[in-house]
Amino acid sequence: MELLKERILKDGTVKPGNVLKVDSFLNHQMDIPLINEIGKEFKRIYADAPITKILTIEASGIGIACIAAQYFNVPVVFAKKAKSVNLDGEMYTTKIESFTHKKVYDVILAKKFLSPEDHVLIIDDFLANGCALNGLIDIVHHSGATLEGTGIVIEKGFQRGGDMLRERGIRVESLAIIDSMTDTSLTFRE
Ligand code: 5GP
Repeated sequence: MELLKERILKDGTVKPGNVLKVDSFLNHQMDIPLINEIGKEFKRIYADAPITKILTIEASGIGIACIAAQYFNVPVVFAKKAKSVNLDGEMYTTKIESFTHKKVYDVILAKKFLSPEDHVLIIDDFLANGCALNGLIDIVHHSGATLEGTGIVIEKGFQRGGDMLRERGIRVESLAIIDSMTDTSLTFRE
């Protein structure tokens, strides 16, 4: 998506540890017209998929998922990071290691919000090593729902997450794939 790539080049900054900071338009301050175009693009890509629910994870995925959901006309459900898990059988649970915080979270989703009839699109802001997406995919599989695919705003293609998921046959659609980045240069996959 050209508009997104131009914005990353203009306003993104590279931090130590292979972290791209895009907090002036995506992760802290949010540029709604841009995110609206992102939502439209996900709908264009998944126009033929019978999506019934968009799944994301708190916090950064929620705003993007909500704007996209208006084009799909379906609810958004977001997985929550929990400090402790109460295993009462009403929740799907999984563990996710945070790329940016280097912590392992228990992640929960109430069973009543995802069922075998659902066709799920997973949306998230970044894809790096794939821990977040793997956790969400795990939840979809436990629920018996059909995973239609994933929609990612920025994939760091030099980390292995995206390619590993594609090798498993999972549909991964990323609006910008970064092949390399340094303090002074950033290249996208064509
Ligand atoms: P993964 O689980 O694929 O390793 O990392 C994905 C998650 O880590 C995303 O949900 C995102 O919040 C965060 N993340 C990974 N890499 C970056 C990055 O370069 N910049 C920012 N802002 N977040 C990132």
